[in-house]
Amino acid sequence: MSDYKHFESKGIRTQTDNKLHREHSTPIFMTSSFTFESAEQARAMFADEEEGNIYTRFTNPNNNEFIDKLCLLEEAQSGIATASGMAAMFSSMAGLLKTGDHVLASRSVFGSTHQMFTQIFPKWGITHTYVDIDKPETWEKEITPKTKMIFAETPSNPGLDIIDLDWLGTLAADHDLILNIDNCFATPFLQQPMRHGAHLVTHSATKFIDGQGRTIGGAIVGKEDLIKDIRFFTRHTGPSLSPFNGWLLSKSLETMPVRMEKHCENALKIAEYLEGHEELVSVKYPFLPSHPQQQLAKKQMRYGGALVTFVVAGGFERAVRFLDNLKMLSLTANLGDTRTTVTHPSSTTHSKLTEEEQSRVGIEPGLVRISVGLENVNDILEDIVGALEASKRKKVLN
Ligand SMILES: *Cc1c(COP(=O)(O)O)cnc(C)c1O
Repeated sequence: MSDYKHFESKGIRTQTDNKLHREHSTPIFMTSSFTFESAEQARAMFADEEEGNIYTRFTNPNNNEFIDKLCLLEEAQSGIATASGMAAMFSSMAGLLKTGDHVLASRSVFGSTHQMFTQIFPKWGITHTYVDIDKPETWEKEITPKTKMIFAETPSNPGLDIIDLDWLGTLAADHDLILNIDNCFATPFLQQPMRHGAHLVTHSATKFIDGQGRTIGGAIVGKEDLIKDIRFFTRHTGPSLSPFNGWLLSKSLETMPVRMEKHCENALKIAEYLEGHEELVSVKYPFLPSHPQQQLAKKQMRYGGALVTFVVAGGFERAVRFLDNLKMLSLTANLGDTRTTVTHPSSTTHSKLTEEEQSRVGIEPGLVRISVGLENVNDILEDIVGALEASKRKKVLN
């Protein structure tokens, strides 16, 4: 697919056929269907004897460009663009699993993925067991003859715990299980799960792939023998990405490495500055020496990521006052934007978890999650430190 050696060049130079008008930038192909040169070509394409676009629910040049690039960056054989990250998570499982199958999943998963495991899959008799990220020794004994897939997120959300991908790849291979990694937090620039034995890599492209808070999108990439079955599922159930969003996401991959470098540089500076701040109980960031898995994080990740979490002294009440005193940072449930965003997981993204479930994945009432953006790092810090100071007072000052 590409002769370019390095990550950045693959992301920039992989382009759909651009000979139509000798255009330099790929146009947007807003077309629902494609024409055939002959009845014979139509027959051959439907019979999979000839490659080509038929209908945008199946494939489209913009979505193909996005996926071709992502496959190169993730070192995957093939893939599918989906309308959202959840469409990717759902299809990567629904396309492969059947009634009676079981999934082993890391406990700390994205909120909607948790709803899928607990409220949706049980309707079709697909079960799951959650295992603790910090107790890998407990995983193997939860594998049963019905287990078909291991699903995990690393770094986890919002715990920022790290799973050893080499170890997990070996565990999956030893038991002949499909290893499916949600690589949304790291992006392929920081970590490539296929290199460690993953069979599927799923993404919410809404986050750092778009990276600019403009669209919802997703992707599934991996081994062709699995993608083939998932493709059958998506082709006939229709969670397809719009060509406009495919175009946007393909362009976004061009700048992803420079954005991620800056996100991570800012995040590390903020984590280092805040560690030991008197209004905070703790600060967590994968590349901080105080992170219990810093060595592992450094082994499998290029940088520490854009997410930093901290626990505000004084718990829930102080955390809420901190949020209400921020002046520049955006209060939103999203992450992976150029703008720094701040979330209070226990009352929003993870509020569907019981108190016990929250505490098992390290979500305390005072926990704040920051997705560090690309603003000047001093402006971000000034806002955080100012709001921490102001949160000591009861009344919100505006
Ligand atoms: C946001 C997110 C998803 C879901 O993606 P959407 O694009 O919102 O559907 C899945 N996994 C992780 C880790 C996420 O952060």
